[in-house]
Amino acid sequence: MTAVNIALTPRRIDPSVDHEIAAIVTGSGQGETCNTDLAAAPWSFDTVPGYGPGASEGDVIPTGAPRQGELPREYREADEAELDARITAAKATLGERVVVLGHFYQREEVVRHADYVGDSFQLANAAKARTDAEAIVFCGVHFMAETADLLSGPDQAVILPNLAAGCSMADMASIDEVEQAWEELADVYGDLDTPDAEGLLPVIPVTYMNSSAAIKGFVGRHHGIVCTSSNARTVLEWAFERGRRVLFFPDQHLGRNTAKAMGVPLEQMPMWNPRKPLGGNDDATLEDARVILWHGFCSVHRRFSVSQIDKARAEHPGVRVIVHPECPMEVVDAADEAGSTDYIRKAIEAATEPTTFAIGTEVNLVQRLAAEHPQHEIFCLDPVVCPCSTMYRIHPGYLAWVLESLVAGEVVNRITVPADVADPARVALERMLAAKPPAAPAAAWEQAS
Ligand code: SF4
Repeated sequence: MTAVNIALTPRRIDPSVDHEIAAIVTGSGQGETCNTDLAAAPWSFDTVPGYGPGASEGDVIPTGAPRQGELPREYREADEAELDARITAAKATLGERVVVLGHFYQREEVVRHADYVGDSFQLANAAKARTDAEAIVFCGVHFMAETADLLSGPDQAVILPNLAAGCSMADMASIDEVEQAWEELADVYGDLDTPDAEGLLPVIPVTYMNSSAAIKGFVGRHHGIVCTSSNARTVLEWAFERGRRVLFFPDQHLGRNTAKAMGVPLEQMPMWNPRKPLGGNDDATLEDARVILWHGFCSVHRRFSVSQIDKARAEHPGVRVIVHPECPMEVVDAADEAGSTDYIRKAIEAATEPTTFAIGTEVNLVQRLAAEHPQHEIFCLDPVVCPCSTMYRIHPGYLAWVLESLVAGEVVNRITVPADVADPARVALERMLAAKPPAAPAAAWEQAS
């Protein structure tokens, strides 16, 4: 870690990525964006299958992925100031009856209305703590709203302002694919529910929080556990105490980065491609495996590269590079530190001297951190402005619509997890909460909290 003293005059930075994209598209701003359609309103894409413009636009969306119906015209035609005022007024009317949760990757125009801002698990816990709220409006993506529903009370309604806000990474592991993989692994390892002479199961399924409730339920039914980017090492330690190996999904990078830091050799981390028999492996490879990595990734974090880090170091001597562990292994290895969104936020808050930070995570968070800490130079490693496609689908227009619907006594866009899925999914989450941290983390980023 290297901090550098630089003479910085406090700057005023517009934290709004929307404003920056609009300026780039009209030619009044500098830089480039990955898709000029990002300057259009998200409802332009509600009827079109796909994730929409942004980092996930090239990913294949599953057939049957939720679509958002047409947003009423009054919200589509309202300008930023009107929507801001309507959201503020609706929240004031609803008072303690509603809690609005905003993920770190949400646009500034939404985050400013959030009662809590955090990562997916922090927000799910915030939802759990607000037992007085009748409605939980989750400004994030679909799996986060499902998790909030799992952890909140039965009489609380969890609302996702735009049903098209999925997550391309979560969609890369469907329940059908995972069940198929489990059957194929049983052909290799035998009975997956019976421990061997040393009390270890052949394989423990571990799913990242960024997965559907159905996948969390699968994991809960099969002796497995959920992890976050903050506690992945703790969870893998838990799994290795109970099994010979781990099937980790959906994010190969978080699995690889975590297991590598624990000393698992790369050759014992085969990839499981759900479109190939045995995931594209042979029996011997799977027998020798310690961590079987699902072929999934986050298209936001896959954009970061070693060449971007090299460029940042060349142009900003002494720069401190922090990336998210969803980035590819080479990027994590080249960075000074890697950690969850909360780790990144706390690392910047803890810096007492003016410092230059190059950050490898979603641009909305980076832009907001830069605005909040003008004493530091903070920039996104990716020079192309390319937000998460699905986070981007939550716009103040949808937030105003769901809140004003609540004022009118109507719950729209409720997310409900059926009981047969919810019960085992909660078991998998409870195992995670009960898992104890390892005695000695092997890398700085694993201390993220
Ligand atoms: S940033 Fe990546 S993991 Fe997070 S919601 Fe977007 S696509 Fe999914």
